[in-house]
Amino acid sequence: MIKHPDFKNLHIVDHPLVQHKLTFMRDQNTSTLDFKRYLKEISFLMGYELTRHLPLATRQVQTPVEQMTAPVLKDKLPVIVPILRAGLGMSDGLQELMPESCVGHIGVYRDETTHRPHEYLVRLPEPRGRAFIVTDPMLATGYSAVHAFGVMIAKGIESSRISLMCLLSAPEGVRVIEQAYPDIPVYTAALDRQLNDQAYICPGLGDAGDRLFGTY
Ligand code: URA
Repeated sequence: MIKHPDFKNLHIVDHPLVQHKLTFMRDQNTSTLDFKRYLKEISFLMGYELTRHLPLATRQVQTPVEQMTAPVLKDKLPVIVPILRAGLGMSDGLQELMPESCVGHIGVYRDETTHRPHEYLVRLPEPRGRAFIVTDPMLATGYSAVHAFGVMIAKGIESSRISLMCLLSAPEGVRVIEQAYPDIPVYTAALDRQLNDQAYICPGLGDAGDRLFGTY
């Protein structure tokens, strides 16, 4: 994993398997089934990197041979919060990695003209000192993520407990998040060149929700 020199909040998961699978996701000829599978696999691999710094405690365990002091996670597992609908494709991989995690949901759709988010669903567990990983494959304008963070903070979740996991990001969106919430880290598989005038990421992979659910 590397930190981007221009964006202090941005971490790029440059693992070769992630990069390889991402290339197949970008290919317009990749089927819905494969797209979904690659997104889940990449999210699993990214989740492994994101959770690298979870604090550990110890407990006693009796092995068949002897007693030992062994490491266990100190806190509850992070809550996974997909931004609907494309975020669901990433939460699948994280749930496979951390099956005991709670899952919250934030539903927003973006207005085709203003590109601003409209909220239609919020279901979040109590914060209880837990970390929260927000998932959204495409960090384009950054408006949906900023909206989601605002909703979460209004419900008592500290920004220092939130991180964002996305597949692709545009510099414009990373900057919007950096300005609004400089303490929220963004984990991405790639930083693409720019947004086009319809706020699509270039070169990108098209509409992630449509490609994930086959709604062309
Ligand atoms: N959302 C998508 O699904 N794709 C983009 O390129 C930008 C936002």
